[in-house]
Amino acid sequence: MNLTAESDTSADIRLAWDHRFAALGPDFFTELRPTPLPAPHWVGTSAEVATLLGLNEAWMRTDEALQAFAGNLLLTGSRPLASVYSGHQFGVWAGQLGDGRAILLGETTSGWEIQLKGAGRTPYSRMGDGRAVLRSSVREFLCSEAMHGLGIPTSRALCITGSPAHVRREEIETAAVVTRAAPSFVRFGHFEHFAATGQETQLRALADYVIDRFYPQCRSTTLLAGNPYAALLQAVSERTARLMAQWQAVGFCHGVMNTDNMSILGLTIDYGPFQFLDAFVPGHVCNHSDTQGRYAYNRQPNVAYWNLFCLAQALLPLIGDQDTAKEALESYKTVFPTEFLARMRAKLGLYEAGNHPSSEVGGHGVAADVTAGAGAGDTELIDTLLLLLARNAVDYTIFWRRLSVAVGSGDFEPVCDLFADRAGFDQWLLSYSELLALMDKALSADLMLKTNPKFILRNHLGEQAIRAAKLGDFNELQTLQRLLERPFEEHPGHDAYADFPPDWASSIEISCSS
Ligand code: AMP
Ligand code: MG
Repeated sequence: MNLTAESDTSADIRLAWDHRFAALGPDFFTELRPTPLPAPHWVGTSAEVATLLGLNEAWMRTDEALQAFAGNLLLTGSRPLASVYSGHQFGVWAGQLGDGRAILLGETTSGWEIQLKGAGRTPYSRMGDGRAVLRSSVREFLCSEAMHGLGIPTSRALCITGSPAHVRREEIETAAVVTRAAPSFVRFGHFEHFAATGQETQLRALADYVIDRFYPQCRSTTLLAGNPYAALLQAVSERTARLMAQWQAVGFCHGVMNTDNMSILGLTIDYGPFQFLDAFVPGHVCNHSDTQGRYAYNRQPNVAYWNLFCLAQALLPLIGDQDTAKEALESYKTVFPTEFLARMRAKLGLYEAGNHPSSEVGGHGVAADVTAGAGAGDTELIDTLLLLLARNAVDYTIFWRRLSVAVGSGDFEPVCDLFADRAGFDQWLLSYSELLALMDKALSADLMLKTNPKFILRNHLGEQAIRAAKLGDFNELQTLQRLLERPFEEHPGHDAYADFPPDWASSIEISCSS
């Protein structure tokens, strides 16, 4: 297809654009059009994200929309580009990377950057083909919306377009494009890029852009010697700490926490070999390419801190002195444990008087801002529980959901059944009951059912949706999407999706190949 101005979308679908990232200038990106995707078809769409972006539902069903999100037609007024960044991969400096297969269409006036992932080669593709396969696109699409449903900050996914075009990975697969959206796709790696190449003017321009656009309070702070760049580092550290607390509490493993996959806004981005824990195995490594286990579940909070240290190093020329940078980073060490404890207390139904769930529910029933205050012994109770879950290899999600139901019904048998060491768990239950006795049980159960999801995107569920999608059947994907968009609801008739993983689930190998 010849991509000329005439191929722009029709007048009835005009997004209002405000290309604020592009305004940074050509040092930050290369302008280029997506490479057309042959014979595209719809694989999935999110009506919720379409509404968020201001896209008309009827238009989303048109061929014009299909062509636009396959990269075959430009949305009127968009200004496609691929940005340059660098980063540390698996703990080693990797040099220049950049958007090797994602193309930014621009930012809407409502503040959403829209990217096409898998839209062809860019100057930053290195050895890659610029494409994404259907398999990984289904996983990114479903997980983005699942994380949002769980109340965890994330990039969003508007749609997947598929194609019969072949893509070579370990085997021949077919190509797909995911259209994703976030307020910004700026990564730690963007800052590392300009620091490493000694482009201090650009480094400052990028930091100023991020502060003005997303962290304006950093300009007026009196903390950290009134240094706005140190304040930025502190704000990013705090957001990242909160994100890690949420990942750990829900049992999410990202799989590739390289600094180029770390969002400056503390969002979950770049879904690759991620996994939600089945059994609670603290050292679980979900990425088969991660032979050292660098990104194991229980190492994620430390890795995030290591990544923030890289960001601090990159911001050092702007911050001016090491001590101020170190002080800004320190907040991570207090925010992460505080947030994690608050999340775990909420999972246990422990709330503080005057701050019970009926007054604090946001999102899709996610208990937002649960700042339940910790009492003495809470940390010990949580540590003991996590140890028991690990020793008995208990299914993490099923445990929490059964516990939530048990607190409401008073019947703890189904929870006890999960433990081979029943005596050990019974003992824990005694201590827990003492704390629970201080709560209104109905309110605790309500908080727990809104905090502990019934449905998560287990690997085998994603795999089933992928296998069907490869055969042209998208029903499974749609069902799963519907459940994951509202993971705290019961969804009668769909209990199989909330069950233990089948034996074959442990043989699924997810690697960096996508
Ligand atoms: P990831 O860790 O998957 O987020 O990707 C690391 C880097 O490799 C980024 O710069 C990506 O843009 C790039 N990349 C990954 N896959 C491809 C591909 N198939 N073609 C071009 N670049 C890619
Ligand atoms: Mg990436």
